[in-house]
Formats: sequence, C-alpha cells, structure tokens
Amino acid sequence: MSEKQHALIFELSEPGRVSYSLPDLDVPEQSIGELVPTNYVREEPPDLPEVSELQLMRHYTSLSNRNHGVDSGFYPLGSCTMKYNPKVHEDVARLPGFAHIHPYQPVSTVQGALELMYELQNSLAEITGMDEVTLQSAAGAQGEWTGLMLIRAFHEANGDFQRTKVIVPDSAHGTNPASATVAGFDAVTVKSNDRGLVDLDHLKEVVGNDTAALMLTNPNTLGLFEEEIVEMAKVVHEAGGKLYYDGANSNAILGITRPGDMGFDVVHLNLHKTFTTPHGGGGPGSGPVGVKEELARFLPVPTVVKEEGYYRFNRESERPDSIGRIKPYYGNFGINVRAYTYIRTMGAEGLRKVSENAVLNANYMMRRLAPYFDAPYEQHCKHEFVLSGRKQKKLGVRTLDIAKRLLDFGYHPPTIYFPLNVDECMMVEPTETETKETLDAFIDAMIQIAKEAEEEPETVQEAPHETVLGRLDETTAARKPVLRYQKS
Ligand SMILES: *Cc1c(COP(=O)(O)O)cnc(C)c1O
Repeated sequence: MSEKQHALIFELSEPGRVSYSLPDLDVPEQSIGELVPTNYVREEPPDLPEVSELQLMRHYTSLSNRNHGVDSGFYPLGSCTMKYNPKVHEDVARLPGFAHIHPYQPVSTVQGALELMYELQNSLAEITGMDEVTLQSAAGAQGEWTGLMLIRAFHEANGDFQRTKVIVPDSAHGTNPASATVAGFDAVTVKSNDRGLVDLDHLKEVVGNDTAALMLTNPNTLGLFEEEIVEMAKVVHEAGGKLYYDGANSNAILGITRPGDMGFDVVHLNLHKTFTTPHGGGGPGSGPVGVKEELARFLPVPTVVKEEGYYRFNRESERPDSIGRIKPYYGNFGINVRAYTYIRTMGAEGLRKVSENAVLNANYMMRRLAPYFDAPYEQHCKHEFVLSGRKQKKLGVRTLDIAKRLLDFGYHPPTIYFPLNVDECMMVEPTETETKETLDAFIDAMIQIAKEAEEEPETVQEAPHETVLGRLDETTAARKPVLRYQKS
C-alpha cells in the first residue's frame, strides 16, 4: 500500500462502505435510547472513516510496521536494552495451568504455580548470592524502593535513626537517586575518577555515621567493572552502612560473579531485562529483591515457603517485622514463568555463556569503533560501552544527529547523552544474541556516519532521510501533542 493511501485513510472514506458483515438480527430490535440513558447518546454519529475490510487491515498493519522492535531489527540501546525474548516462553506462560489461575484460588489447587515461585526465589538467590528473595515488586524502580525500605527498617530496628543519606555515583541510573528520595533519604553523589570508576578517596570523604547505604551497579552504567568493590564494601560496612546492588542489567555477571560475594547486602533484578520478558510499551515488569540473612525478617509478605513438601504463602504473623505488602497479590506471575523457563533452559553453564558472549560482543564493537569515535576509557568493558561524539561535535555534528542518521540504516540508536558524566555520550549494548554479521553491519554504518561527519556533515545533520517522517520537533510534540486526525 502506498504511503499516500496510508496517510489519507480518513479521506478514503466512501459513505456506506463497511469493513464488516453481520448476520441478520434474530432478536427484537431496540433503539439506542432504550439501551443507554438518553443523556449519554450522541446527537450525531461519530465522524469515522467508512472503509473496506482490506483498507482497514492495511491501515493498522502499515502503522505497526512503523515501529522498530527487537523482532524487526538490531536494538543496541545501552542499559535498558531489550535483551533475549525467546518465543517459547510465550507458549509456557500461556499454558492454562499458569495463565488461567486466580490469586484467590485455594493454594492446594495451585501447588505447581507455587512450586515455580519457590524455585525461582531460590534460583535468583543463588544467582545473586543472597539468602532470601521476594518476587513482589513490579519494576526495577519499585525493587530499588523496596530494597531501600528494607535497609531503612534495619537501621531503625537498631535505633540508628541518624542514617539519612544514600550515596549514589554520578554515573548512576536516574532511578537510583529518585528511589532514595522517595524512600525518605537524601541522595549524596560520589564522583567518578578518570577511569570511569567510583573515586574511592571521595567515597571515604562522604561516608559517615549518617550513611544508610551505598547504591551501586557493578559493572556500572559505563559498562566498567568496579575493581575496588571489595574495598568500597569494607569502607561502607565499617561505617555501619549497607550496600545496595542495582542488578537491572546483570548480563555481564551471570555465573561469573555475584553481588553477594562482592559484599552487597540487597539486590534487585529486572526480570524484564536480564531474564527475558519483553518490556516495550511500559510493562508489565518484575523487579525481585534479594537480601542477606540479617535483612530477611523485614521482607514484604507473603513469600512462598515449603513445608513437608507442601507450598504455601507465609503469613504476616510469621514475619512481624515485615515492611508489609508492596503490591497486591504476589507479583507479576507471567513474568516469573518466563524467567523460570529461561533459567531452566539455560542451566548454570548456559547463563555463564550469556555473560561471556555479551562481554565479548561489546568489546569487539568498542575496539572496532574506537578509531572513529572517542572511547573515553581504556580498559575492557563488560556488557556495554560508551563512546563520545566529541570529535564529531567539533565538525558540527552532534550525537543526536548520529542517532538520527542511524535510523536511515534501519537501526535503533544507542542510548544517548547518558550517563551524564561523558560529553556527547553514546552508550551501546549489543547483547549476547546478535550474530557477528549484525555487529559488523552496525559497525560499518557507524564508520560511514563518521566519514559523512567529515565529508558531508549536512547528510548527518539533516537525518533521517529514509523514515516515514523526518526529524521531529520533539519538544513541541511532547508539549502540544496532536493526537487526533485533523482535516486539512
Ligand atoms: C531499567 C533500569 C532501572 C529501572 O527499572 P524499571 O523496571 O524501568 O523501573 C534501574 N536501574 C537500571 C540500571 C536500569 O537499567
């Protein structure tokens, strides 16, 4: 269908043309007024296009083709990357015994579902090196908040009411300082050094007896491993603080190292990133939280427990120090099913391979792109890396232009202008599942864009050229959105 036809779907309207056929009426006819209170009835019929079934079908199919998704092309968006989404997980999540159960059903009738939750709690505890896990929280950010509330409950139980500060590195994901604030703490920034890692001396300066926790991800959001993590953990623990691990993107560490072994006390995972549930369109998500033994008594209730071969939810009376419920029912169960299926299909060896390949792919791309873009840090990266568009900026080509030009090649651009501590930042996460050919094709596109920046910068500055719509005024689109068809 031509673009013209698409754009003019409303104008294609022919009075009386319909896209459906209904059987003859075999019940007494009633007027709208008899069915709906008259004050709700329209005076005029709505001004909808009257089109044929095929015109309608092609309209929606054409709209869906305008979306870029991981099923249609490479999607190297650093940090929040859509990772591996095996389709077999959708089959498993739709098995009637999983999909058609109800949270109010007696637990004796859903033992299989409870067993899955119990096993998943244990697997995630093993993977992260924690002692207990709750599956309740529905997102990474809610996991962060939950984890910080647990730390808060721990300090308050010790009478440590002066611990009001949560230390967050300047490269952190934006949800970290936000969650700290929502949990009632003051977020304090610790600087990164010129190797992109937490500045240990500065950490020692900001740590004190008012420290509730250090919130960290390792590898950090620059894709770099915090080599001094053991020393950092010691500094924070000696001051009486706890260590919180943001495990939203754990693709670099599975089966290789564990937050619990690095000295972390609390961790959240994003099952909708690392553990395969697709997360386009804002959800649903799942952000399980794991804790070390001494924090377990504060966990939300219920978690699933096993007693003489029988699974059940524990009661509030069994966990009197619990911070309470943080979500109705028991978490997003369908996402648990996908994560559990993934862990069981991969096995321990498979999970380790995920991380080895994620790290290999990222380093391959970084080294091949480093001659053309600034790679601000010398050391090997983990599952993702950052480049800076500083060189191109001097030629009048901004990182935003590079991202827009990538659309012409059919790629989703990397994350741009984040983390904030790298000028003209591009953050690339190729993931473990892409072929070498795909990585090479993306690298070639990036190299071509770097050449264009030198030889014909307008091509990049005015991109995209091949998409349905050219460069949008994103600010106006956000502030004054036009959401309905308007007759010209
Ligand atoms: C995505 C992400 C989060 C937040 O997860 P949500 O499910 O979007 O709330 C937190 N930290 C990091 C590093 C992330 O990538």
